[in-house]
Amino acid sequence: MGRIGEVVAVIVAADSATARVVEAIDELTAHLSPQNEPWACPLCCTESWPCSRFNAAARQVMTAGLQLRDWIPNDLHARLWGKPKSRSPAPPAPRPQAGPRSDTWFDEESPDG
Ligand SMILES: [Zn+2]
Repeated sequence: MGRIGEVVAVIVAADSATARVVEAIDELTAHLSPQNEPWACPLCCTESWPCSRFNAAARQVMTAGLQLRDWIPNDLHARLWGKPKSRSPAPPAPRPQAGPRSDTWFDEESPDG
């Protein structure tokens, strides 16, 4: 019965940026808030999540140039960074409007009178 939800194990190259902070990632994951208790750290009973150890590990991960959100379940993103911005549809690209043709043959005798 996992307390932090499902986890997966990965193998990374020893000389990769990830490997340099693998301990921090371990720590980060261990201190992830459980889904059913998003305000609690399973290890730090006295602190509300995100706890100080989570923050410290997160800082190391970010310092290594890794994207913190890549190591955190999507469910907790809103907890950490606030509600995700609703994707507003991109404004339609302005179409180049075809200007009125300046063909002189049209202007000379307009059917509209
Ligand atoms: Zn903790």
